Amino acid sequence: MKPLDGKTYAVIGAGPMGLCSVRNLVKHGIPCVGFEIHSDVGGLWDIDSPTSTMYESAHLISSKRMTEFAEFPMGEDVALFPSHREMRDYFRAYANAFDLYRHYEFETEVVQCTRVGDDWHITTRCRGEEQTRVFGGLLIANGTLHHPNIPELPGAFSGELLHSSDYRDPAIFDGKRVLLVGCGNSGADIAVDAAHRASSVDISLRRGYYFLPKFIGGKATDAVGGKLKLPRFIQQRISAALSKFMLGSPEQYGLPKPDYKMFESHPVINSLILHHIGHGDIKARKDIAAVAGHKVTFADGSSGEYDLILMATGYKLHYPFIESAHLNWEGFAPRMYLNVFHPEYDNLFLMGMVEAAGLGWEGRNRQAEMVALYIRQLAHGAASAQKLKKVKRMQARQRADGGMQYLKLERMAYYVHKDTYLKALAGHTRDLLSDCQVADTACFSINPAAATR
Ligand SMILES: Cc1cc2nc3c(=O)[nH]c(=O)nc-3n(C[C@H](O)[C@H](O)[C@H](O)COP(=O)(O)OP(=O)(O)OC[C@H]3O[C@@H](n4cnc5c(N)ncnc54)[C@H](O)[C@@H]3O)c2cc1C
Repeated sequence: MKPLDGKTYAVIGAGPMGLCSVRNLVKHGIPCVGFEIHSDVGGLWDIDSPTSTMYESAHLISSKRMTEFAEFPMGEDVALFPSHREMRDYFRAYANAFDLYRHYEFETEVVQCTRVGDDWHITTRCRGEEQTRVFGGLLIANGTLHHPNIPELPGAFSGELLHSSDYRDPAIFDGKRVLLVGCGNSGADIAVDAAHRASSVDISLRRGYYFLPKFIGGKATDAVGGKLKLPRFIQQRISAALSKFMLGSPEQYGLPKPDYKMFESHPVINSLILHHIGHGDIKARKDIAAVAGHKVTFADGSSGEYDLILMATGYKLHYPFIESAHLNWEGFAPRMYLNVFHPEYDNLFLMGMVEAAGLGWEGRNRQAEMVALYIRQLAHGAASAQKLKKVKRMQARQRADGGMQYLKLERMAYYVHKDTYLKALAGHTRDLLSDCQVADTACFSINPAAATR
């Protein structure tokens, strides 16, 4: 392989995305150093990490077989929907199995990335000491669920106000009158936690959500439908019908009717929230209209008194260590080809800034494999990489949405259609492999879905 002019790539983050990025860079012979604020790997799945937004009761929302890295399956003894602690252990085992720890500097925060010529000057801080080093490229895998989105309340609340990113332990609900705001997957989990501890739990929803149970016929719901390659509109119809058959419609539980189609926003995969609403343990409320003292008035004129408001209102993309001008922002998100390639720079990649129902870590791994191959083949002067370089410049604004009309919400701004996205990744990966020299192919996984060590 042609050397990358002795240049090293920097990777920010040791969550699932950072780990598989390092794994693929190393596999394809690209020197790299990973930086991680926490003292270990696992990203937000390590509840003890200072940057984690995990809570004690959290389990995988997608099932283990639909989520795991293909080359590193979870054990048979691991539950279908493992707990966050099992996931942390899984990522530690993955890092050990592929010898990734030695590539990382832990307890090291990246505080500044400056572009000088074609290089990246990266300043890190470790135990108070800062240093700046020069890197040939930068892969940003700092996670998308860390910086809370906290909408302003219409009035002053005199009780306790929390965002779900600060929530860990259901003991905080003991004996309190609780109002949950928002019903994404975390909001639904947390409302169920609160139902067991609080004196009352209400949940305020601004819009309708689709609900899916975690299990159908004893199998994980995403594993039942997720492997079938059906046209998008048929997938939408089948899943909506299944949801209605299994759970009924949201309106039957006093929740708003979704004014969009299934999968145009992320569905709530939770078998318990509707059960608790049906039992009166959780009361559905409309959008908040006014707040004064402990009193909250809702859009339908009803009101309630609360001790604690917990905002499960999601997250914002946040890259505080790099000038936003470098990230080609458009609206709520950087506009990158396939959510990862900068249109102009060939050595800047936004890893894992991608969300889709069922993408899992294997989807992220395939993204990392494509990027590693691109870096390698570009250094090699390969025609395939030159072709991709042109494509990414021309098509950065196209979205791999597969024609899906995603809601125009901040959290949906980097959402892709899984099958469309994976197909695009596979196409580029195949292309990049097509002009690898024979002598080089030993270290490539010809089939990225079944990579070998
Ligand atoms: C409760 C919950 C349940 C979820 N369930 C699922 C699920 O079932 N399936 C699924 O696919 N996804 C799920 N997710 C989404 C989750 O985002 C992904 O699983 C995954 O963690 C994303 O990996 P990541 O590496 O991109 O980010 P993260 O796991 O967030 O890791 C980013 C890492 O970067 C580090 N970092 C950040 N900034 C810096 C810096 N400046 N310098 C150095 N290091 C830095 C952080 O410390 C962190 O370790 C869930 C999320 C939550 C909160």
